[in-house]
Amino acid sequence: MAYLVSHPDEVKVVSKRFGMGAANLDRYLELDGYKAVQKAIAMGPDAIINEVKASNLRGRGGAGFPTGLKWSFVPKQSAKPKYVLCNGDESEPGTCKDRLIFEHDPHAVIEGVMIAALAVGAKSGYIYVRGEYRYLLEIMEKAVADAYARGFIGKNIFGSGVDLEIFTHSGAGAYEVGEESALMESLEGKRGIPRIRPPFPAVVGLWGGPTVINNAETLASVPHIILGGGEWFANLGTPRNGGTRLFCMSGELEKPGVYELPMGYNLKKMIYDVSGGMAKGRNLKGVVPGGSSVQILKPDEIDVAMDFDSMMKAGSMLGSGGVIVLDDQMCIVRFALRVAKFYQHESCGWCIPCREGTDWMKKTLTRFHAGGGVAKDIDNLKYLAENMLGRTFCPLGDAAAMPIISYIQKFRKEFEDHLDGKPCPYEKAAEPMEAVVSG
Ligand code: SF4
Repeated sequence: MAYLVSHPDEVKVVSKRFGMGAANLDRYLELDGYKAVQKAIAMGPDAIINEVKASNLRGRGGAGFPTGLKWSFVPKQSAKPKYVLCNGDESEPGTCKDRLIFEHDPHAVIEGVMIAALAVGAKSGYIYVRGEYRYLLEIMEKAVADAYARGFIGKNIFGSGVDLEIFTHSGAGAYEVGEESALMESLEGKRGIPRIRPPFPAVVGLWGGPTVINNAETLASVPHIILGGGEWFANLGTPRNGGTRLFCMSGELEKPGVYELPMGYNLKKMIYDVSGGMAKGRNLKGVVPGGSSVQILKPDEIDVAMDFDSMMKAGSMLGSGGVIVLDDQMCIVRFALRVAKFYQHESCGWCIPCREGTDWMKKTLTRFHAGGGVAKDIDNLKYLAENMLGRTFCPLGDAAAMPIISYIQKFRKEFEDHLDGKPCPYEKAAEPMEAVVSG
């Protein structure tokens, strides 16, 4: 996939320094680097939070929670140290945007962490990078070291009287650690499984202290909001959905890649205009609009705005911004099997509906796709998935169940066409599907 792509409709905010050598600190400074944090120091904590609230920035990791509101939950006074944690454990299949930020604009992440720390009164920040992104960890480590060497991080940052330490940390390859409480467990050196909530991290987080956890794209947006103003950022998007979004367009497209578009951009246009339309003259079968854990949309459902609220209304979710486009040569049963395998592999096994449910979905779909399916498997699969929903400690259970339910609801005939020992009638794809759904 050509990651650095462009289209006239793009509005480059988070990606404005991509390809401009901004991993180099001097270059970053030439490109307005570290101006936002100095402005934030002059503004003070309350004004920073109000600006971020005004921007309508919502979490770019997938949940879409309003960022300024999240920051405002952190208590002003705390007996325990407060922390800011950048979630760079980008693992949702179909999603590859945070890696570009780490690679091309690592100081923007650092600056975002600094501004968040100023807003909530934290003295320590952590940048947690996905284990499989080890080469990006080196870029982040160098950026942090360079910022320390220049005196931007450490004691008395920019003469503010505020001390702030920033550390990098690498994951060990677990999708589950993208869940915020599991991320904290991992950072504390424990097995990366979720915590029972409440209490929520803003009150009891890392090492028991109040903690802000934000996705890397969310934090990289913050310096731009401080410099450009919350209102400017909000107006780039739709009501309640401010700014732009890095959309990762993958699958059978003429021009796959990561495009930065205003929140609310039309999904159909993203496929047929921005990404050049379907590759090899094929027809569209379905779109997974927000990473593998969201519900699939059929071709007649994609004339919809890509923001959190519109996607909910359309029966899916904006999620992580990973748009996976399936063509008419993709077997939905095989796609379901690939997705089920992923979640079965990544389930931490703590709660029974997820541990058993993902395993049975994988087993059933494996047999089904191999020609050993019986009619009752279809309803059993749906029943199994429906009984996982809302019954697990963390969202992975829902993430595994929701897509499977949607595949059966919308493509039932494809499941039925596999019955009675028939060979898969759809499998003509030249490329292995793993190339389409890679985490
Ligand atoms: Fe672990 Fe799955 Fe339960 Fe989450 S839902 S805690 S991943 S077993």
